[in-house]
Amino acid sequence: MDKTTYDAIVIGAGPAGSSFAYYAVRKGLSVLLVEKQREVAHTILCAEGVSMEFLNLVEKELAHKRNYVAAYIHGGVLTYEGKPYVEVKLKKPGGAILERKIFDRYLVERAVKEGADILVNTKFINANRKGKKVEVTLKNGNQERVFNTSLIIDASGPAAVIAKSLGIFKDYDKNTDFYTYQIYGYCDGIRDDYLYFGIGESVAPHGYAWIFPKGGGFANIGVGIPGKRDGLHTYLNNFLEKHCKGVKILGVTHGVVPTVFHKRKLYADNVLILGDAARLADPLTGGGIANAYISGLVGAEVAAFAIKKRNFGENLLKVYEKKLKEWIMHDYIITLFAREFYTSLSSEELRSFVESVKEALGTMEIHPPLNPVSMLIKVLKKDPLFLFRFGAKGIYAAGETLRQII
Ligand SMILES: Cc1cc2nc3c(=O)[nH]c(=O)nc-3n(C[C@H](O)[C@H](O)[C@H](O)COP(=O)(O)OP(=O)(O)OC[C@H]3O[C@@H](n4cnc5c(N)ncnc54)[C@H](O)[C@@H]3O)c2cc1C
Repeated sequence: MDKTTYDAIVIGAGPAGSSFAYYAVRKGLSVLLVEKQREVAHTILCAEGVSMEFLNLVEKELAHKRNYVAAYIHGGVLTYEGKPYVEVKLKKPGGAILERKIFDRYLVERAVKEGADILVNTKFINANRKGKKVEVTLKNGNQERVFNTSLIIDASGPAAVIAKSLGIFKDYDKNTDFYTYQIYGYCDGIRDDYLYFGIGESVAPHGYAWIFPKGGGFANIGVGIPGKRDGLHTYLNNFLEKHCKGVKILGVTHGVVPTVFHKRKLYADNVLILGDAARLADPLTGGGIANAYISGLVGAEVAAFAIKKRNFGENLLKVYEKKLKEWIMHDYIITLFAREFYTSLSSEELRSFVESVKEALGTMEIHPPLNPVSMLIKVLKKDPLFLFRFGAKGIYAAGETLRQII
């Protein structure tokens, strides 16, 4: 490949980078996608759960057929300190567990088929602004090459290599990162269409444990805790002992999911920051595939506008952050509130909260999406003092959410 000048160079071929590449090429931009792994989607850290809403968004633009869904989800069980509490049954599938190796590769295939160029086994080394353009140095094997572009897109995941190397992200708040430890294994008796979540002080303090089924008794089973790296292994072993005794482990991964994006600037002259690099994952669950993909879609739209106007300054690129917020801010505020509420509860308060909810909801059959207001009304009918006990925490969480966002 001799070409060395592109409208946009994208670092990282995860869901954020490949979504950007696809939508940008469709808008007429020349795009180079750069991936440091030898093969796209070679190593992925993920429990692979997504909503049906997200799958439908991707499938609006199907390029060719790939079987990337491992299981559709028809319900779930929430356990507290190892005991089942609330069970949700869905009339229609509410989500799916992906085969991300197939899914991520498919997203790259789709971008390449549309016209994006790609370099694998190639690492971002540095970027230097030269007038209105950027010189990007990439390293393939032992060979360094310099490319030119108007826009450099940071889709490098938690590493955020461009944001860090250009000094856009200066500080790093580890308390909002989700630290995770996960196995892939065979566990006899797991339902193929149910999610299992575990909470409680001894399970995952202020975090949660999960079982995401992949079919045939195989599952991603993990634990994630915000701001806490120590002891994850022990928490996971205890969870496995309780719910998947005798599990046969086929793989182990651990990783970090950066969250709480609103404290960051997601653009600079010639730069857009997407996905995990922009810390877009859900602050309560750490789920980040959908927001990564959406950031690529929105970023491509803004990149096309910048190319049309021949303006790559941050005065124009800031539109990316504004448009992205229009897509994701509604859900983000709700989960930020939920996270503030959840992390403000002592273990005794969490027990009392869970008991009230179990008493009122027990097993629910619902049509997605979940309606938290009607659920709260059910709880209040059973336990009128619920608001008295938890209202102050709710007000605190709402205040804390507002304080952070405004
Ligand atoms: C244990 C665990 C479980 C999770 N479970 C879920 C879940 O169930 N559902 C969900 O929605 N999300 C989940 N997530 C989060 C999800 O995996 C991420 O939010 C998602 O992958 C973000 O996509 P991305 O494209 O921004 O980054 P990534 O998928 O991390 O892609 C970044 C790419 O950039 C490449 N790269 C990095 N540095 C360079 C460089 N210098 N040069 C070139 N290439 C580079 C990397 O190799 C990688 O391919 C989980 C995360 C973890 C750790």
